Amino acid sequence: MAVTSMIYDDNNIFAKILRGEIPCRKVYEDDHTLAFEDIHPQAPVHTLVIPKGKYVTMADFTAKASDAEIAALMRAVTKVAELKGVVTTGFRILANSLGDSMQEVPHLHIHVFGGKPLGAMLSVPRP
Ligand code: AMP
Repeated sequence: MAVTSMIYDDNNIFAKILRGEIPCRKVYEDDHTLAFEDIHPQAPVHTLVIPKGKYVTMADFTAKASDAEIAALMRAVTKVAELKGVVTTGFRILANSLGDSMQEVPHLHIHVFGGKPLGAMLSVPRP
């Protein structure tokens, strides 16, 4: 079900990963961010990059996070692309936010896709 609220849910699956309550396949970690493999990959490279702080969406994050947290998340995306070997072949990042985007997990996450030609940007019909 799509996320519809900006109220942070401490029981969301990524909060549990951050607390070490459920495992993940870690790709990268620093003081402010964690990156791990998506459990249902949609491309040969499909890694999720998340802030360690409690933010639901990009709007929530940019409104409340410190400059250090914001810089760390952006740099972590590039670090993940380097670690996954897609900086020169190309990659796509995506962050769903609330209802129309069909966001499923209510903790901000940036998808990093790559490893093959990714096709058109959106698969939904044009309006
Ligand atoms: P979104 O629709 O943008 O909220 O994407 C949520 C993503 O989280 C999906 O691509 C899921 O496959 C992924 N996901 C859900 N649970 C886990 C998990 N335990 N470990 C890694 N990825 C997960």
